[in-house]
Amino acid sequence: MTSELPPVPPRSVWWGWGAADADRSLSGAGLALLGRELGRPVDAVDEPPVDLPAVRLPERPLAPSARAALAAVVGEEHVRTDAEARVEHAGGKSYRDLVRARGGDADEAPDAVVLPADADQVAQVLRVCAEHDLAVVPFGGGTSVVGGVQALRGDHAGVVTLDLRRLDGLVDLDPVSRTATFGAGVRGPEAERLLAAHDLTLGHFPQSFEQATLGGFAATRSSGQASSGYGRFDDMVLAATVVTPEGELRVGGFPGTAAGPALLDLVLGSEGRLGVITDVTVRARPRPAATRHEAWAFASFEEATAALRQLAQSRTLPDVCRASDAEETRVTLRMAGRSGAALRGLTRLRRIGDPCLVILLWDGPDSKTVDARAAAARPALTAHHGRRLPGAVARAWAAHRFGAPYLRDELLRRGVLVETLETATGWSNLVPLAAAVRTAISDAFVADGTRCVVQTHVSHVYETGASLYLTVIGEAGDDPLGRWGRAKEAASRAIVEHGGTITHHHAVGVDHRAYLPDEVGELGIRLLRAAAGAVDPQAVMNPGKLFS
Ligand SMILES: Cc1cc2nc3c(=O)[nH]c(=O)nc-3n(C[C@H](O)[C@H](O)[C@H](O)COP(=O)(O)OP(=O)(O)OC[C@H]3O[C@@H](n4cnc5c(N)ncnc54)[C@H](O)[C@@H]3O)c2cc1C
Repeated sequence: MTSELPPVPPRSVWWGWGAADADRSLSGAGLALLGRELGRPVDAVDEPPVDLPAVRLPERPLAPSARAALAAVVGEEHVRTDAEARVEHAGGKSYRDLVRARGGDADEAPDAVVLPADADQVAQVLRVCAEHDLAVVPFGGGTSVVGGVQALRGDHAGVVTLDLRRLDGLVDLDPVSRTATFGAGVRGPEAERLLAAHDLTLGHFPQSFEQATLGGFAATRSSGQASSGYGRFDDMVLAATVVTPEGELRVGGFPGTAAGPALLDLVLGSEGRLGVITDVTVRARPRPAATRHEAWAFASFEEATAALRQLAQSRTLPDVCRASDAEETRVTLRMAGRSGAALRGLTRLRRIGDPCLVILLWDGPDSKTVDARAAAARPALTAHHGRRLPGAVARAWAAHRFGAPYLRDELLRRGVLVETLETATGWSNLVPLAAAVRTAISDAFVADGTRCVVQTHVSHVYETGASLYLTVIGEAGDDPLGRWGRAKEAASRAIVEHGGTITHHHAVGVDHRAYLPDEVGELGIRLLRAAAGAVDPQAVMNPGKLFS
């Protein structure tokens, strides 16, 4: 985190992550490992995405009167109905979305993509959409993995996607209070660049950091890799402006208040159902001048997670804190094994048997401070028989931590099914829940006549519990979406039945909607519907997402 900021990466191509010519190559070690798991040479399959002209788009022209009204607000060039714009906004970046895009299926594309310049234009666009019976899908970075940006029209005559990229820039900075207001369409790296000019950081680094926006983080209650130090995104937001079909709401703004229920909390996680978040005010922190990297090995996932629990409950947590199970450790170490020190780490791990890797990062103003924090954490790590590995193992993880989405594109090209899911629960239930979900997924693959690898890690920890993040890798086969759909359903049922939340940070979208009543009850859903009804009586905002 102390290194110079890299340039803001290009936006994603419609069929994958980042620029078309980004490096997506798998290392030799990675190829060999994967080949062994799949039982075939990885490059035996080669399925590149179809060309843009071959993508199937629904013929759904906007009514000329609606188009003219939208163009009168944002300008003709900002109402896009060309194939590229529609295909780019047909979905997010889940496995399902990418398989469909690569195969040329853009059935969930919007009729048009509208790019407003400011909150005033957003308000006018919402008015036009309500008048012309058009559903509205807010679109930040389009990195949703739960169907949040599919252009569903619901009962409406048409659907437009509102791309918020022009709501950009640092709108206001209060260096004394250390708060910053950003346009909702600002992506993670741009926000960091703007804050770095004032020697500040947000400290929000989800794996989707390169592409996702601050408005999207707020709308989905995102959580970044440094959440144990800097907090979840919803901890960072102080205020937001939301433009709804019934008018503008400004929520939050005080460091603390007892003025009734927090309306800001209603907006955080609202997934576009209440309106469009047009700006967010966040708390910033001093940019760290030093980062300490440590890697530790534990003999079991139980011991690794017990160490994390002790760190959390003794309030000696690092800023980044991540425990992998044995399966994930094996893959991580192999992938990072190119550097000499990482290889030495691997050798030491072999002496432990089936080790579990823990990565810890501390940020601070100088090395003395981060060293002192690391020293304070040591008793919790040694109490659970942790063994220190070379710091290079943790540095290798940090260097590659935004790389996985690029590799996923290559895996999809090679006929590999790869997808992730996540949940959270109390410490006492963490290891049993992980086992139940893993079993549910593996059983679903076996019922399909195949097998898969399930890797698990904990990367967001609290005093009372932690998140679980599972990565599933298997053979895509002839019906990849059917195969994944069955596994995901089994996993979701296991999560709900074994006391986990249906989502810790990916949000609800379409994919988790059916499970939300289990979590908040039918009365809770009625309350959400009532809130949406108050600000959006014609229900044009993002139909089909979060609740039905
Ligand atoms: C490879 C990969 C890794 C990921 N890693 C993480 C991770 O580490 N942590 C994490 O929390 N998530 C992660 N995600 C999930 C995703 O990045 C987050 O949900 C992110 O917060 C979405 O931001 P976005 O700008 O891309 O929003 P979008 O995908 O554009 O939208 C997400 C939802 O929010 C709504 N929305 C977006 N902007 C606004 C707005 N301004 N106003 C109202 N509604 C809006 C959309 O309508 C949609 O329902 C990952 C996704 C991918 C593909």
